[in-house]
Amino acid sequence: MRFETVPMPQSVEERPRDVRGYPVPAITPWEGDQPQFALTDYDRSANCARQRLCSVCNVLMPRGPVWRVVGGPESAAIGEALAAGRPYRNMAPTLEGPGHRACMLYASMVCPYLARPNARRGTSAQTPDDMTSHVVRGAVRGSMGAVVGFADYEFAVSASQVVFRFVDVVEFLPHDVADAHLDELRAELAKGR
Ligand SMILES: [Zn+2]
Repeated sequence: MRFETVPMPQSVEERPRDVRGYPVPAITPWEGDQPQFALTDYDRSANCARQRLCSVCNVLMPRGPVWRVVGGPESAAIGEALAAGRPYRNMAPTLEGPGHRACMLYASMVCPYLARPNARRGTSAQTPDDMTSHVVRGAVRGSMGAVVGFADYEFAVSASQVVFRFVDVVEFLPHDVADAHLDELRAELAKGR
C-alpha cells in the first residue's frame, strides 16, 4: 500500500525520512544517508529493548501490552490456538522487537519488509495474471499475517544479536489484504487526539 494513503501516528511522523519521504523505523540501520530497511541494527535494537522503546517510532511504550506484526505461519498458529481455547506460547525468539499498537498497525500496512516471506505469498507472482485482485485476495485469505498484542515480552542481548520473546496473546488482528487495518488504525489514532 502506498504509505501516503495511510494515516501516520504522530511519533512516526517525527521519524527521519528517506528520499521518498518514507519514515525510517527506529531499529533500521543507516549507511550514510541511506536507510537499510531490510536490516535490523544491533545497537538500535538493544537500545529499544533496554529502554522499552517502540521499534518503529523509538518512543517509550507504556506498561501493559505491546504489539508486533507476525507472518503467515505464526498468524495461523495463533489463530488455531485461540480457536481451540489453548494459550499460545511461542518459545522461538525473534529479532523483531515490539511497538505501540498504532505503530504496528501502521507498519503492517506500509512496511514492505515486515513479515516479508509471507507478504510475498500474497503477490501475483504465484497466481495467474488474469485473476482479478478480488479472487487473488480471497485465495490468500488470512495468510499474510497479523498484528498481535502480547501481555509482555522478554529480551536477551547477546554479543551478536538482540532477541525477543513474546508471552500471552491479548489481541489478534489477522490480515489478508494490504489495507486490512486502516479503520482500526484510524480509530486508534482518534483515541489519542
Ligand atoms: Zn511507536
